[in-house]
Amino acid sequence: MDLSLTTPVQYVPRIGPARAKLLKKLGIETVYDLLYYIPFRYDDFSLVSPIGRVQPGETVTVEGTIAAFHNAFTKSGKKLQEVRVSDETGALDVIWFNQSYLARVLPVGTQIRLAGKIDWFGHKVVMTSPSYEIGSTLHTGRLVPIYSETEGISSKWLRGRIAFVLEQILKDVIDPLPQLMQTNHHLMPLVQAIGTAHFPDTTTDAELARRRLGFDELFFLQLRAWEERRLWQETKKSYLCHINEAKVTTLIQSLPFTLTGDQQTTVKDILTDLTRPYPMNRLLEGDVGAGKTVVAMIAMYAAHKNGLQSVLMAPTQILAEQHFTTIKGFLEPFGINVGLITGSTKNNSPTPPLKIRGGRGELPDATNILVGTHALLSEKLQFDKLGLVVVDEQQRFGVVQRSTLMETSKTGKTPHLLTMTATPIPRTIARTIMGNLDLSVLATIPDGRKKVKTWVVPNEKREKAYAWITTQINQTGGQAFVICPLIEESETLATAKAATTEYERLKTVFAGLRMGLLHGRMKAQEKQTVLDGFRRGQTHVLIATPVVEVGIDVPNATIMLIEAAERFGLSQLHQLRGRVGRGEQQSYCLLFTEDTNDQTLTRLKAMETTHSGPLLAELDLKLRGPGELFGTRQHGLPELKIAQWTDSELIGETQQAVKTLISQDPTLQAFPLLREKLGESKIAVTQD
Ligand code: ADP
Ligand code: MG
Repeated sequence: MDLSLTTPVQYVPRIGPARAKLLKKLGIETVYDLLYYIPFRYDDFSLVSPIGRVQPGETVTVEGTIAAFHNAFTKSGKKLQEVRVSDETGALDVIWFNQSYLARVLPVGTQIRLAGKIDWFGHKVVMTSPSYEIGSTLHTGRLVPIYSETEGISSKWLRGRIAFVLEQILKDVIDPLPQLMQTNHHLMPLVQAIGTAHFPDTTTDAELARRRLGFDELFFLQLRAWEERRLWQETKKSYLCHINEAKVTTLIQSLPFTLTGDQQTTVKDILTDLTRPYPMNRLLEGDVGAGKTVVAMIAMYAAHKNGLQSVLMAPTQILAEQHFTTIKGFLEPFGINVGLITGSTKNNSPTPPLKIRGGRGELPDATNILVGTHALLSEKLQFDKLGLVVVDEQQRFGVVQRSTLMETSKTGKTPHLLTMTATPIPRTIARTIMGNLDLSVLATIPDGRKKVKTWVVPNEKREKAYAWITTQINQTGGQAFVICPLIEESETLATAKAATTEYERLKTVFAGLRMGLLHGRMKAQEKQTVLDGFRRGQTHVLIATPVVEVGIDVPNATIMLIEAAERFGLSQLHQLRGRVGRGEQQSYCLLFTEDTNDQTLTRLKAMETTHSGPLLAELDLKLRGPGELFGTRQHGLPELKIAQWTDSELIGETQQAVKTLISQDPTLQAFPLLREKLGESKIAVTQD
């Protein structure tokens, strides 16, 4: 069978169905995937030495003939394979441990290449457990690629298959980047870059190859986002709004507070979006408590003044109910009907499809603003005139964009979309992967709110801290969260167990206080009971795993204790901290750590002085890279395979490249290869 880039790896000689299954675990399904399976480092075996010249401490490659093979035992009884290899300059003893099969593979007389470290073994100079190869030059005598492995798939094996595929197919790879761009950005040609990334001659070559592949990765992310944005704006028609400034001002003046500067700017931007011929697609980023809901409410009010309905979707029922109460409180006096639909109300609803009638409140039961959970995504809702969709705390970007809510209605119009998130996304990342969205940031928490006092608590102060918490709770009647260590990415049995153990332990520590336990392995009903108990103040201390109930709002909770704080990213810590400081009382965040590393402490100490989510996110990105940013929750944001989010130089270059390209040729008419890479079907939409 002739190989092409799209051939499933199973058909590559010496791969087959069993190996293909293993490769799938590494994300390798096609020949193309194999080519793009880039090593994460190289062993430097490029120093080739005559056997007579090797020195202890050197990592070298030697070539010679096997003169002798012995199976022996070490003093401790381990099996030992001893091979004598010689060339015209001398002889060298090579040893392996527990590799009896080598006797078959390495008969005396074999011409062999060996690469590894020269060392003392007893008082003999030997080469220990080297890489070896017979009749090839892939695994020795060069920079040797090391890949992420999985059981049954070794780097050595991958090297062989990748070398084979490179040989067969690399020439078929077409470089999609325009020549001028390659020249301007000093890029290695693609074919050369792929080959070099696997088998570079020098580390400099390897870096240049990676730079080229990383450039492509970042460039196409951004080009795709830009293309999405263009298609959105060119193919979707909005409900064009007229903004009644006087009415909006009246609403804003009716609020019990003045908007922050960021809120004012954001409101202005959103209201302008509503007057455009294409629907808004905006991301509103701000810490919990930054006042996003109020901003969304003003937008929904403006939509209502244009005879449009709005929905607000919250991630949990509790949050939906909170939003419902808040919005109803503010907007009902303006004659606006606010409705609530959650999982449970939906199940009770009599006959689908449920018609959500709109209007300006003339009809007694007409709904102008509908608040709800994911139940809103149900196809059974039929709106009269849905003009604005607001999504709060969307965990997976893009889900709502593809939902029936956002479908173009009979009128040919698509609702405006406002996505809100408390996840602090550094601007660098937001601009790159979410360039299809307009971005607003509420960077400041409204004035008058007290900052959460934060302390890093080393292990020796643990007992003192517990005593302080007990006193604090007894004196102020406040409540505390205890967040258990982050063990694994998702809520597992181990996490639940750890929380349970901590709960039992703290019962003694906080004797006299009432304790609650919350983890993901509990039934929904149990969780609800525990949460209700905490909310009503029946329990003083709630021990919880890190992944539960992000949005929980208990104004009386004033203490947040986080165990093993060093395991969290700063953004995660900040989000956890955001669960206190919601009431009038001064709140506190205690970051426990047993880590005494200076760097760790410096990083954690940033929490004591910095209270801005976006700033902490940027800091996280610098200190730990993006892996930690989004923490334990899945956000559906793409992961980079080759480039690094910390590589601001390359990010800057790719941004520039995209900008230059689309300013010259927004629809990429002159660049069919780029269009192909973006997916021709999508582009075709605007071609006719
Ligand atoms: P978010 O949705 O960003 O978490 P909310 O909109 O729920 O934040 O606001 C949190 C609290 O702060 C609410 O009680 C809200 O009424 C109040 N709030 C919002 N904006 C301001 C402001 N500018 N000044 C004072 N309080 C505000
Ligand atoms: Mg909120």
